[in-house]
Amino acid sequence: MSNPPTNGERPADGAPLLDVSELTVHHGQLRALDRVSLRVFPGEVYAIIGANGAGKSTLLRTIAGLHRPTGGVIWFDGQDVTKVRPERRAARGIAMVPEGRRLFESLTVEENLQVGATYARKGPWTIERVYEMFGWMAERRSQRTAQLSGGEQQAVAIGRALVANPRVLLLDELSLGLAPVVVQRIYGMLPQILATGLTVLLVEQDVSQALRVASHLQCLLEGRTTLEGRPSDVTAEQVEAAYFGLARAGQESDSLWSGSTTSSRES
Ligand code: ATP
Repeated sequence: MSNPPTNGERPADGAPLLDVSELTVHHGQLRALDRVSLRVFPGEVYAIIGANGAGKSTLLRTIAGLHRPTGGVIWFDGQDVTKVRPERRAARGIAMVPEGRRLFESLTVEENLQVGATYARKGPWTIERVYEMFGWMAERRSQRTAQLSGGEQQAVAIGRALVANPRVLLLDELSLGLAPVVVQRIYGMLPQILATGLTVLLVEQDVSQALRVASHLQCLLEGRTTLEGRPSDVTAEQVEAAYFGLARAGQESDSLWSGSTTSSRES
């Protein structure tokens, strides 16, 4: 396998780990995704940005196998997984941290991590390793996750996905509902995660945060791709136009860069 690309660079050769081609997904009559394509290479952080309802979660959930597309193909490590069941995709190395964490709140921290480890692949991530990464977690292993703060719950959700030893980690809106300082702390863990060989595909409404960590980005608007490229190659104006659509870009750009496009935040 080729070396992982450094931040901002993509391998000139080599195969993508995840190759999504012309993906179309409907929720009933609504076309939530319209021929969206993306290629995620080993070791990179690929960010999907876009406003509420742009189709970001639908994209991640379809890659994880939770929605059935009406068109297009999903290739993972060279194999067509479009019709593969979600648990089989997990076994092949696709794990997701869902929007809103979705922990088992009546279970303890450790029990939640054990759930993630149930059908784990072989690899570097263990519950102990998650405890090493999040220093506070081991001594609170017996606490129910309902008693944790939003940021702590997010950390457990990440840990639960990591202990499955995925090859690609799908992160859905990590920043949602969290104070900026907590968001920084959570994203501060990414280098440690990438160092174990993982590839990350993340969804973010917080555009500044996405641009800070991504090596490649794509913007969705109403289910369609409106921008794709390396963060260093796109201008703020291009991002604004792609995010809001040309007509609204000027009026709403301030909220985009302050990160206040996300819904209400908690501390
Ligand atoms: P958000 O940041 O608000 O989660 P998003 O970019 O992730 O937005 P999606 O959640 O993928 O967007 O939603 C895309 C569109 O599909 C929206 O119009 C949404 O209302 C609709 N939608 C999403 N999930 C479903 C569902 N299960 N059934 C019906 N419509 C859905």
